[in-house]
Amino acid sequence: MAGVDFREWGLLASIDLFKCNPQTIRSKEKIQEYVIKLCDLIGVKRFGETTIVDFGQDEKVSGFSMVQLIETSLISGHFANASNNSYIDIFSCKEYDIDKAVDFSKQFFEPENTISHVVVRKLEPVKGETSRILENPRNWLFENFGMDKGRSLAIKVNEMLAEEKSPFQRIGIFSTPAFGKLMTIDGIVQLTEFDEFAYHEMISHPAINVKPSVEKVLIIGGGDGGAAREVLKYEQVKQVDLCDIDAKVIELSKKYFPKLSCAFKDKRLKVFNEDGFKFLDSRTGEYDLIIVDSTDPTGFAENLFKEGFFKKVFNALKDDGIFVNQLESMYYNPDIISKSVKALKNVFPILNYYYTLVPTYPSGIIGFGFASKKYSPLTDYNPKQANGVLKYYNEEIHKACFVLPEFAKKIIY
Ligand code: SAM
Repeated sequence: MAGVDFREWGLLASIDLFKCNPQTIRSKEKIQEYVIKLCDLIGVKRFGETTIVDFGQDEKVSGFSMVQLIETSLISGHFANASNNSYIDIFSCKEYDIDKAVDFSKQFFEPENTISHVVVRKLEPVKGETSRILENPRNWLFENFGMDKGRSLAIKVNEMLAEEKSPFQRIGIFSTPAFGKLMTIDGIVQLTEFDEFAYHEMISHPAINVKPSVEKVLIIGGGDGGAAREVLKYEQVKQVDLCDIDAKVIELSKKYFPKLSCAFKDKRLKVFNEDGFKFLDSRTGEYDLIIVDSTDPTGFAENLFKEGFFKKVFNALKDDGIFVNQLESMYYNPDIISKSVKALKNVFPILNYYYTLVPTYPSGIIGFGFASKKYSPLTDYNPKQANGVLKYYNEEIHKACFVLPEFAKKIIY
């Protein structure tokens, strides 16, 4: 797809053509003609003469080998007389149309069968766990959340719409056939238009439907605006402070996700671009609800999963305040969950864990910590949101989402 850039440096297409026209592959002139026409067709510039040599001493190993340098790398070919197969490699750091090259090669050499492979040569090495896009066959985004363990999430991409490096992270916006637009941060899927509702509704509504009065809310992270949009659906909410360290996330969300970022137009929303950890230093007894909608616990987000931070949250909450935080997958992140839950229990008298179903997150499920000073999500359910209005959250979901499978109970309780 023209214009797509998955941190790529060059494209290698290897085209295997089986049982070609024997006369064509035995003709130096025809191979020369092929190279000239191919270069013109895919818009690459030949550099110097084509080298076409037959190294074979006898018919078993004989056949032409061809090399053509191009200004953006090279094209090579091996034509095996014994099998009448041809093996063509086109490597270019300039974008070219692979389908055209394959179709033309088929037309020219008239093979009975063809197999082609495409390899994207990388611009940068993979940054271990912080950048989880690993191997990129063309137009597929692979999120690695443990490729060493044999698992990954693959999403077909139409086009990369934007990629911006902020002082904090690398933000990518893609369009996809299955999930609409999608945002990544350092190669990790943050949200898609297809299923963001399941995450943003569930990080926001359960707490508001427990605490009788919620007027002042703090969201740490959440720069896409999704959690703020949900919280601001309640008239009783008078002020939402959103503290995302990275203004770039907000800017890109406003540009590419208008439905998600509509909250930024609401006068009740105040934006702070600071580290949420430090932001809380100057806040005491202010908030009814604090939500942490952060990236995973690495880099500057790591502190947001630790006891020192939970103590600050506790202080910043009113006496009956509630704290909800993004707390990973019970299948894939039991260690992160159990450490955070232990720390939360050291700080808050009431601690529950609940989950929502989001197909584009690792394992299709993501959980939240529900830490509270006074109200229990199980016994103090105080419905404000009518059934049938939202897309995911309703009364039954409120009751069901805190019910955990045995293995998860063992991690949490
Ligand atoms: N729903 C998403 C997920 O779990 O995949 C999270 C989305 S939201 C875009 C995450 C935001 O957290 C990012 O915009 C990032 O800048 C912000 N963030 C991470 N650490 C932060 C910190 N210490 N203080 C403030 N914002 C932070």
